[in-house]
Amino acid sequence: MNDDPRAAFDAALIPGMRDRLADAYREFRAREAEAIATLAPPASGGSIGAYRDRDCPICGTPAGAARPVLQAHGLTLLDCPGCGLTYTRQVMEEAADAGRYRASALDEALIALRLSEPYLELETARARYYLDRLAAQGAAGGRLLEIGSGFGTLLVEAGQRGWQALGLEPGRLGATATRRRGATVVEGYFPQDLPDPAARFEAIAALDVLEHMASPLPFLADIRQRLAPGGLLFIQVPNWDSLLVRLEGAASSVVCPGHWSYFTPATLTGLLARAGFRALEVGTVQSEIDRQAAFAPEAVAAALNQLRPGEAGVPDAARLHALKLGYKLVGVFAPG
Ligand SMILES: [Zn+2]
Repeated sequence: MNDDPRAAFDAALIPGMRDRLADAYREFRAREAEAIATLAPPASGGSIGAYRDRDCPICGTPAGAARPVLQAHGLTLLDCPGCGLTYTRQVMEEAADAGRYRASALDEALIALRLSEPYLELETARARYYLDRLAAQGAAGGRLLEIGSGFGTLLVEAGQRGWQALGLEPGRLGATATRRRGATVVEGYFPQDLPDPAARFEAIAALDVLEHMASPLPFLADIRQRLAPGGLLFIQVPNWDSLLVRLEGAASSVVCPGHWSYFTPATLTGLLARAGFRALEVGTVQSEIDRQAAFAPEAVAAALNQLRPGEAGVPDAARLHALKLGYKLVGVFAPG
């Protein structure tokens, strides 16, 4: 897939990139493991949040009717028989969930990772590809809002293309770093911390945000309300259909307290449809083909056949994306 624009930010396909990232990731992975332990439900050794049990956050089907599919970090992942969503039976109480963003040891490790040169190189190429996708679907300029703008790479790139870009970011370190990079960001949450409640946007982006929402539908309704006529929504979430994630199972870093929904191409599109959005395009990025290669070919083939019945063998990056089995799921959506 060398002529595929996604190859420009696919660490598995760029010679030497994994080695360059390794140092920055070493510290981050250690902090991440500590954070996961403290964020788990108290009954499983966590120390931060009170948890409550819940039913399906999309269709309301009782959790008791859902099939448990995985246990990890004191959480049970359920498959909803009503809408197909995979979600955690337990969810952290909102106040505790919000508090954990304000400042954490993870933030310090995260900033070192996300502002490291190889990471920024990948994130910049990713941001350009995402802005290209928005442009291809008809959003090429105007006001862009990013919810959960992290360290500001998408805002910086959007600004360079002439977008009037605004970020909302709950993490203080991310917001500070974003300002230092020359982009406009407000420290806070969507929608209550928008500087102008009446503002409407030609594009709203939420990367790795939706899976953190205990109630995704009201969040999407708020987004819909703030899109200008013709405005588009760009979403990125971890892909629950990722071949690598399925191979890793409970050991995957995607499975963690804080990720309350686990979307596939089908359930993401289904959720957005319920919220009044139609999908203009949905696909995957990040092959993680080198990490997949650590598993026996028979195990890879078995997981592939389970995810996409009838498919056989060990897929390469191009086939992985054609089957929407890459690591991250991305989509462009329009109201209506
Ligand atoms: Zn459901």
